[in-house]
Amino acid sequence: MTSYRAAAYAAHRGGSARHIMDNTMPTTSDLPQASGSTEESILPEIDRPTLSLKLANFTAVVIPFAGLVVAIVLLWHIAFSWLYLAILLGMYLATATGVAVGFHRLFTHRSFKTSKPVVAILAVLGSMAVEGPVLRWVATHRRHHQYSDQESDPHSPHGHGTGLWNTMRGIWHSHVGWLFEPEIEGLDRYIVDLRKDKLVCWMSKHFTLWVLLGLLIPTVLGGLITMSWTGALLGFIWGGPVRVCLFHHVTWSINSVCHIWGTKPYNTHDHSRNNAIMGVVALGEGWHNNHHAFPTSARHGLRWWQLDVSYMIIWTMSKVGLIQAVRIPTKDRLTAKRMK
Ligand SMILES: [Zn+2]
Ligand SMILES: [Zn+2]
Repeated sequence: MTSYRAAAYAAHRGGSARHIMDNTMPTTSDLPQASGSTEESILPEIDRPTLSLKLANFTAVVIPFAGLVVAIVLLWHIAFSWLYLAILLGMYLATATGVAVGFHRLFTHRSFKTSKPVVAILAVLGSMAVEGPVLRWVATHRRHHQYSDQESDPHSPHGHGTGLWNTMRGIWHSHVGWLFEPEIEGLDRYIVDLRKDKLVCWMSKHFTLWVLLGLLIPTVLGGLITMSWTGALLGFIWGGPVRVCLFHHVTWSINSVCHIWGTKPYNTHDHSRNNAIMGVVALGEGWHNNHHAFPTSARHGLRWWQLDVSYMIIWTMSKVGLIQAVRIPTKDRLTAKRMK
């Protein structure tokens, strides 16, 4: 355990709350507070990511992507084609929107308001990404914001010690390992507001149903378009398990890559970074330093050149009346939080 992590952990055990959610956006009425977390935190200095941490993370993230590209090239015209690429990307876009726009910006951060049918559709699409029921996803992510890069962060790549072994351990933990650790106790206190929402609770309870729906849709599409059982099987494989694995890898990369690689234009008490590649592939979620600085902002790509597909969807839906009360930080708030 590094001195930083030990210090943070000791302070946490001693009951010193660490409220590091954005203090320039009106979050207090939105997000449930851990006990005593309204205090201003006094956080220890955070070391910069080491070169070995950066290299290990880069390797762990790039190899699965490269493996998928190689598999697609080798299987082209054998077990892959434009049709299955369309099914893969279509399902990816739909479920990624469910997670980014629904699970993250709506349910976790309440960055806009919308009607019950849109809530239901976003909850179903997000659940089809197989990242757990919406209530658990939100609770874990709110905890990430509260303890970002500290001992109690569910998936920080930092604070696991130095040296190759510890670095690899940190990468594994932040990317995948945290999912296999015992469920964190007391997560319920993060979702007091959502527990009162019957629709969201019902959606969360029927998670398995939405997962099965997410596997059925590409299967039926592949089967009907090709009118063959082989088409159904290939539609299932590419639009189901492969799509799920790809998006899992992208989501987990936000946890690891975007707390290691990239720029930090805004002052936050953590390692969050803006990463342009993750910004594109994760539909805007890669502008992660922006997001940690302004958690309730519906827009993560705060500059005109920071592509944020999720915000484009939110913006379009607001223009046609499907979404209201979209929250964006003012110019003054942006200026106040910029790194000096
Ligand atoms: Zn983060
Ligand atoms: Zn967030």
